[in-house]
Amino acid sequence: MRVSGPRAGEALVALAGRPPPPRRARHVRLKDPDSGEDIDDGLALWFPAPNSATGEDVAEFQVHGSRAVLAALIAALGRMGLRLAEPGEFTRRAFLNGKLDLTQAEAIADLVAAETEGQRRQALRQLDGALGALYRGWSTRLLRLLAHLEAAIDFPDEDLPPRLEQEVAGETRALAGEIAAHLADNRRGERLRDGIAVAIVGPPNAGKSSLLNRLAQREAAITSSIAGTTRDVIEVAIDLGGYPVVLADTAGLRAGADEIEQEGLRRALARAEAAELRLFVFDAGRPGDASGAQAWPGPNTLLVANKIDLASGARLPPGAAAVSALTGDGVAALVAALTARIAAEYRVATPLLTRARHREALEAAREALRRSLSAPLAELRAEDLRLAWRSLGRITGHVDVEDLLDVIFADFCIGK
Ligand code: GDP
Repeated sequence: MRVSGPRAGEALVALAGRPPPPRRARHVRLKDPDSGEDIDDGLALWFPAPNSATGEDVAEFQVHGSRAVLAALIAALGRMGLRLAEPGEFTRRAFLNGKLDLTQAEAIADLVAAETEGQRRQALRQLDGALGALYRGWSTRLLRLLAHLEAAIDFPDEDLPPRLEQEVAGETRALAGEIAAHLADNRRGERLRDGIAVAIVGPPNAGKSSLLNRLAQREAAITSSIAGTTRDVIEVAIDLGGYPVVLADTAGLRAGADEIEQEGLRRALARAEAAELRLFVFDAGRPGDASGAQAWPGPNTLLVANKIDLASGARLPPGAAAVSALTGDGVAALVAALTARIAAEYRVATPLLTRARHREALEAAREALRRSLSAPLAELRAEDLRLAWRSLGRITGHVDVEDLLDVIFADFCIGK
């Protein structure tokens, strides 16, 4: 149990007596301060401000976490006028006290929600501040540009470096380019957070639903030997070699179906189009069907020849994975190939954009930078730079005009 705020020390003394030395655990007997009755036997820790998770005084009690123990502690603390924290309140206070930027606060939420290794790694990297550092780096450069431009506007007669405005324009262009490159990441970071879409496509009865079940290792989709039974898109979230994958089974791709099936077909095509990866499943006994995969050329469409238990000698197109969804043969190799393909796309060293909120702010910043480049007046260019800077600041939660003043006065020795 963690207690944060100016009265945390008081609470610690009331429940556990003399506080332990900062950041050292002490074995304590927790007592109800009113009745003197023992509540539990446990450990107490003391983190005086500002060296704590929230930046405030923090006391921690490690107790036997039963309902009765917690209820007794909460009641005792409540009688002292303390209250339960709101969801996210500790992180919020940490942000307000400058312990974290907003991207790190979001990373805590992601870390708590992470279900796969890939998500955990990404959240931890963001918590380490890699993403925030990238955005703050841009923000600082932008601020410097802004300061230089403002100086050129405010002190046109001073001894400012010649070509200052050209340099500002060059650097603005460079920044806009870097932000655009970061935005053009195919939404990999967001996908890693939400799940990488893999669509299972192919002709009816090829065994798509059966393969989905194999991959999901549970009966998620209904298989049947009557063609065209998967009329809608069925989704299953799975952990594939540490990556979050949303597998979508789509209706069989075939012509001449009834109206409902047509709708299923339309959705299947849309889904296959939008997916990051496609498994094109066909019956190994009908290798000619593999040509249907040509609708999605490229390395992100994997050919899967299913039912090899029935067609072991079949001549398969090059690169096709031979599997049997029925017996499980070849499925491990398919999973390995799929994981390798995903890892090739998603195991990156640079921090990825992880949220739509960041994307919107970055797009606004990039637009403002572009506008600034074509604005006719220095005052308008400066205004656009200011807007871009504000957009970047919104991502990490650092927007402060004092920053601007500091740079203006630090960078130039105007002295008048
Ligand atoms: P879908 O229309 O592509 O989703 O195909 P289904 O998964 O519904 O499978 C169609 C039929 O083929 C069902 O009767 C399955 O049991 C059968 N089937 C699927 N995979 C295999 C396989 O690997 N071997 C054999 N022998 N039959 C399979």
